[in-house]
Amino acid sequence: MVVNVCKHCQRQYISVTKGFCCTRCRDIDDMRFAQIKAYLKYYPNSSAYQLAESLNMTVYTVLKYVEEGRLQFGRGRFEQLEED
Ligand SMILES: [Zn+2]
Repeated sequence: MVVNVCKHCQRQYISVTKGFCCTRCRDIDDMRFAQIKAYLKYYPNSSAYQLAESLNMTVYTVLKYVEEGRLQFGRGRFEQLEED
């Protein structure tokens, strides 16, 4: 069991594996990620700051997706990871 802190509501919760988002914020999390994906389609070379600014979310939120392995940050820009 791992104690995690939700990146959206900062609430602590326990899960079997390391997590970043509690079940209550799952919808918000998916919505944010969908926004980032859509944005990167049009502006593939965006920085974390540009993404945050344009999508009205914090840089912290954007960087958390990188930490989660859902987004890749290389050569100073973001790329969406291939999904199975
Ligand atoms: Zn939460």
